[in-house]
Amino acid sequence: MFFIMGITQGRKSFDYNQMMVCEHCGSYGRYQVYMTYMCLSLFFIPCLKWDRQYYVQSTCCNTVYSLAPEIGKRIARGDNIEIRPEHLTRVQAGYKSRVKRCSNCGFETQEEFEYCPKCGRRF
Ligand SMILES: [Zn+2]
Ligand SMILES: [Zn+2]
Repeated sequence: MFFIMGITQGRKSFDYNQMMVCEHCGSYGRYQVYMTYMCLSLFFIPCLKWDRQYYVQSTCCNTVYSLAPEIGKRIARGDNIEIRPEHLTRVQAGYKSRVKRCSNCGFETQEEFEYCPKCGRRF
C-alpha cells in the first residue's frame, strides 16, 4: 500500500487593499496581506495546517513586514481593518532603492542618489 504524506509550506494572499505612504521608500503604495502556513497532506489532500504567520508586503518597494497575528486573523475573516505601523515589524527591507530609474531620461543607478546624475531630475 502506498502511503503518501507530505509537508509543504503554503501561502495564501488576502483580498485586502490599503493605500499608504511607505515609511521605507516614501512612495505611495498599497499593503498586500498574505499568510504562510505549514500544511500536512495525506494522499495530496491537505488535512492539517499550522504555524500560520501573517505578512504584509508593500507594493511600492516590496518591503516585507510581519503582521500582528490578531490583525492578520481579522483580515483573514474579511474584517475591514486598518493596518497601523504598530502592527508591523519589518522583516525584509525593500529593494527599490537598489535600482533607481529616472522617470525623465531612463538613467538607471544602484547608488543612493537623490537626483538623477544625468539630467538632474529628482528620483
Ligand atoms: Zn516602499
Ligand atoms: Zn534623468
